[in-house]
Amino acid sequence: MKRIICLLCALALFGGFCPAVSAQSEPLTDGRSRYEMDVTLDTDASRLTETVTVTFANRSGQPWEQVCFTDFVPAVQEHAQPGAYTSAVTAVTGGDGGALEYVSDREQCLLTATLPQPLEPGAVTSVTIRYEADVPQTQGERFQQASFPGSSGVTYRLCQFYPMLCPWRDGAFVHHPYAFSGEAFFTECADYRLRLRLPEQFTVIASGDELLAETEDGQALWQIVGENMRDLVITATTEFAQPFTGQVDGVTINSWGTPEQAGQAERSLQIAMNSVELFDRLFGQYPYDELDICVAYMPGSAGGIEYPGLVEIIQADVSGEATFAAAVAHETAHQWFYAVVGNDQYDEPFLDEGFASFCEYLYREYVLGESREDLAADIDGVRAYMDLLIDQPGFQLDLTYGDYQQADGDGSGLHYYFAIYELSDVFFWQMRQAMGDQAFYGMLRSWYESQRFGTPTIDQFLTHLSDASGGDSAVSALVSQYMTRA
Ligand SMILES: [Zn+2]
Repeated sequence: MKRIICLLCALALFGGFCPAVSAQSEPLTDGRSRYEMDVTLDTDASRLTETVTVTFANRSGQPWEQVCFTDFVPAVQEHAQPGAYTSAVTAVTGGDGGALEYVSDREQCLLTATLPQPLEPGAVTSVTIRYEADVPQTQGERFQQASFPGSSGVTYRLCQFYPMLCPWRDGAFVHHPYAFSGEAFFTECADYRLRLRLPEQFTVIASGDELLAETEDGQALWQIVGENMRDLVITATTEFAQPFTGQVDGVTINSWGTPEQAGQAERSLQIAMNSVELFDRLFGQYPYDELDICVAYMPGSAGGIEYPGLVEIIQADVSGEATFAAAVAHETAHQWFYAVVGNDQYDEPFLDEGFASFCEYLYREYVLGESREDLAADIDGVRAYMDLLIDQPGFQLDLTYGDYQQADGDGSGLHYYFAIYELSDVFFWQMRQAMGDQAFYGMLRSWYESQRFGTPTIDQFLTHLSDASGGDSAVSALVSQYMTRA
C-alpha cells in the first residue's frame, strides 16, 4: 500500500514537472537537494542525453560564489578505452534560465559553475546542466553496456551517470578522484525525480521506485522517484527474466537475473530477505519501500557493489557459491551502513566497509547458525596475520582510501583490503566481547538511529562509542590499537 501511494504521489508531481520553472517554486524537503532529470538513452548510439536540474540550499556558513559538481563519466570512459568515448557539458543555466559561466575539467572529473550572484547561507537556488555521454561498451566498469556471455540481449549499468553536487565540509566542496578498486564516493542524501526514455523492450530497475509510465512508437517513458537517497543508479536490460520477489517487514525485495541465472536470483532473494530481517532487528528498520538485487556482469569484481536501494552481485558460477552468498549479505548490510548512515567513503572507508564486512559474521551466526566458537576461530586466524601487520604504517582502520593506495605503492589494493575488510572484523568482534552483546547492539542501534541519512565521521563514531561504553578502558584500548587516533 505504501508503495502504491508513493507512486501515485510521484505521478502527481510529474504531472506538473518542468525543470526550469518548478525548480525553485517548490520548497526543498527538509532542506535536501533535489535532482530533476530528463534522460534519454539512445541504445543505437549507446549515448545518454541528460537535462539535470539540481535545486539546493547553501547550508554552509558562508556565501557561495561558485558551486561544484563531480562528473565521474570521463574517468570511467578513459579507463574503459582511452580516447574512444566522449562526454560533454553542453550548457549550464541558473534558476532564472540565464546562462552561467562554467569550467568542465574532464581530467579532474569536476564541473564548476559560477552563480549569477553569491548564494547566501540559507538561500536556495538551482542549476540546470545539459549533458551528453557515450556509455562504454566494456566489462567491469560501473558505467557500461555489456552482455552476459552467450546472451543476445544487453544490459546498461548506469552508475554515477550524472553531475553530482559536491558535499560541503570544512569550508570547501569535497571532491575526490574516482576509485576503480572498491567503492569510494561521497554524496549526500537528496530527492530524485527522473524521467528516462529508452526503447520499450528494456526493463528498468533503479534506486527508489520505478514505473513504466507510457510507451509510444517503440519508445518507453519510465519515471523513477527516490526520496532521501544519496545516489541514484539504473540498470536497463533486455536480458533479465521476471524477478523473484518477496516481502520482509513491509519492504519489497526483487531479485533479478537472466533466465539462466534463475537459481542464483532465487537464492539471492532468500539471502537478502534473511539479511533485511536480521539487520532490521539488530540495527533498526530499512527505510525504503524496495530493494533490488541484480546479477551483474563485472569480471574482476570482488563480489558485489552497493547502491541505495539496489545492489549488484557477481555471477555465482564465477565467484563461487560461498563468495556469492557472503556478497549478498554484505551488500545488503550496506543499505544500513552507507545508504542510510552515510560517510565519506574516500576519506573514511571504515565507516561503511568495516561495518558491512563485520555484518557478514553476524549473518553467518544468526542466519546460518554457525557457532560462536567456529567464528571466533576464524577471527583468531585473521588476527594472527593481522598482528604481524598492525604496527606497520598503512594498516590502521582510520586511514583514507588515498593513504591505503600510497602505502601499497603498486596499485594492488592490499592495504585497503586487509585493513577495511579483515582488520575491521577483528576490531568489531573484540569490541563486542569487551562490551557484551546488549551494550554492543545498543551502541549500533543508537548509531543508526542518530545518524540516519547523515554523513557522520570516524571522530563522531568514536565519541558515540565512548559514550555508549561508558568510557570502557577495554574499548578505548581497542581504538588505540587499531586506529591512529585514540
Ligand atoms: Zn562493501
